Amino acid sequence: MYDFQYQRPATILDVQKALASSPEAMLLAGGQTLIPTLKMRLRKPSLLVDLSGLRAFNEIQAIGEKIAIGAMATHAAVAANPNLKKRLPALADLAAGIGDAQVRHRGTIGGSIANADPAADYPAAVVALNADIITDKRTIAADRFFKGLFETALEPGEIITNVHFKKPEVAAYIKFPNPASRFALVGVFVAKFKDGVRVAVTGAAPSVFRVPSWEEALSASFDPYVIDVDTVPTEGLNSDIHASSDYRAHLLGVLARRAVTACR
Ligand SMILES: Cc1cc2nc3c(=O)[nH]c(=O)nc-3n(C[C@H](O)[C@H](O)[C@H](O)COP(=O)(O)OP(=O)(O)OC[C@H]3O[C@@H](n4cnc5c(N)ncnc54)[C@H](O)[C@@H]3O)c2cc1C
Repeated sequence: MYDFQYQRPATILDVQKALASSPEAMLLAGGQTLIPTLKMRLRKPSLLVDLSGLRAFNEIQAIGEKIAIGAMATHAAVAANPNLKKRLPALADLAAGIGDAQVRHRGTIGGSIANADPAADYPAAVVALNADIITDKRTIAADRFFKGLFETALEPGEIITNVHFKKPEVAAYIKFPNPASRFALVGVFVAKFKDGVRVAVTGAAPSVFRVPSWEEALSASFDPYVIDVDTVPTEGLNSDIHASSDYRAHLLGVLARRAVTACR
């Protein structure tokens, strides 16, 4: 690791000031991605600004029909939250399936979304549930947030404060986990709203994506067998030591059907 300074402010204003004090400053959430990155000397921040001093960032609360999850809510907190288990069980289930116990107790929703790992689970939920990402500067709609491999719409120094999820009629997330890390080899999130169905896929390509033909078919008839399993072309899908693009394309259809069947 390179040397760096460390601060743990107690207010968002002090976080903003700390970030502004150095162009090489970085936010630290649970450190599940950032700390290994520093250990490998892939990043060289001058200052780490730890968000764990901001108590409000841990809150999970219902706001009307929406559920607001603070950026520092850990995966374990999301998985165990009784309100979420009742109102949005697909999201609690997704969080419960992330990594191992240590990762779930340190990793955060804000860190996961900001990091935009192509195999991360949360991006599928954020996009399928048409969530709003709330930052200290603005609200970003899910469809405009994920830009590519480890790339988001966040500007330098922009801080995710909350994620607002809309409650669907029913939803489910099914992934084929990498047996070592539990990251998604492929994951499919299906959410049925009054005005239509949204399907988001993670793990299969450089960034999360929707499948419009499945959304259209499922909006007309919410039945797993309207999904044509061979719809998604292999071109552009990831092919690596874990799985070929052909295999990922096949998994996509199978998991999408299972997700529709599992919806509750
Ligand atoms: C062994 C292992 C297994 C894992 N398995 C899975 C899995 O199965 N599924 C899955 O989805 N993920 C998995 N993860 C990832 C994990 O879930 C974390 O969410 C992810 O690593 C991000 O970590 P973090 O929240 O601690 O953020 P950090 O590592 O602290 O930060 C990550 C990045 O986000 C930025 N950041 C953090 N918070 C904010 C914020 N509020 N606003 C703006 N930027 C911010 C940081 O500056 C940094 O660039 C795994 C990780 C490990 C180490």
